[in-house]
Amino acid sequence: NDVLQLLGVSKTYAKNGPAPVRVLEDLNLSVARGEVVALVAPSGAGKSTLLHIAGLLDTPDAGQVLLHGRDMSGLGDRARTEARRQELGFVYQFHHLLPEFSAAENIVLPQLANGVSDGDARARATELLDRVGLAHRGAHRPAEMSGGEQQRVAFCRALANQPALLLADEPTGNLDPETADRVFAVLMDLVRETGLSALIATHNHELAGRMDRVIHLHETVA
Ligand code: ADP
Ligand code: ADP
Repeated sequence: NDVLQLLGVSKTYAKNGPAPVRVLEDLNLSVARGEVVALVAPSGAGKSTLLHIAGLLDTPDAGQVLLHGRDMSGLGDRARTEARRQELGFVYQFHHLLPEFSAAENIVLPQLANGVSDGDARARATELLDRVGLAHRGAHRPAEMSGGEQQRVAFCRALANQPALLLADEPTGNLDPETADRVFAVLMDLVRETGLSALIATHNHELAGRMDRVIHLHETVA
């Protein structure tokens, strides 16, 4: 009943550099349905590499990535993109919202790309904005919003297509501690209400402690 499984995943950056960098070695990790897992790692330990592999943006040298028990390794680019679009939601340290579009439009667009009708997409955007306390800000552009507000819109966008798994890389890392705390609570409420599974990288041990389980990534000795 795991949403995500990494089985024996290894990754070494070798090809071009002067010396190979072994980042992940025989990593096993799983995220169960409805489980929220914290990923805690010192800088350089391979957190981004792991999230890229779990997010089907990069492939491991060895091992398997399973979504709902289905091996993603053999899939071509199109099928991977499709799986990413339908199954996964992403949140980053910086919001990466489209600056020329309103908050609501930023949540509508990925749904349109996924074949949702304009009316349904707008209704869902409104509902999500309401859930994160931004019902009144839908028409505003990102630049007109605070950092915490921008990040809450980014959460809505990540959940727009009702993914099975949320992958987040330091989702509140760009915010001051007090705002980070509040915004993180909003994210956790959203995840819990929707029964979403999540893998959330953070340096913040206090935030990690609020999740169901903590996985520590260690630096491998190359
Ligand atoms: P983290 O996100 O934990 O800081 P990364 O996954 O970004 O770590 O990187 C882990 C290690 O792999 C670092 O030593 C980094 O320099 C190295 N690395 C990352 N990407 C590449 C790449 N494309 N080529 C070579 N080395 C890389
Ligand atoms: P611990 O508390 O012992 O660090 P965790 O419960 O945090 O263990 O789980 C981390 C798991 O991931 C361990 O099984 C560990 O061996 C594995 N692991 C950590 N870093 C790496 C890595 N860079 N490559 C492969 N496996 C790793």
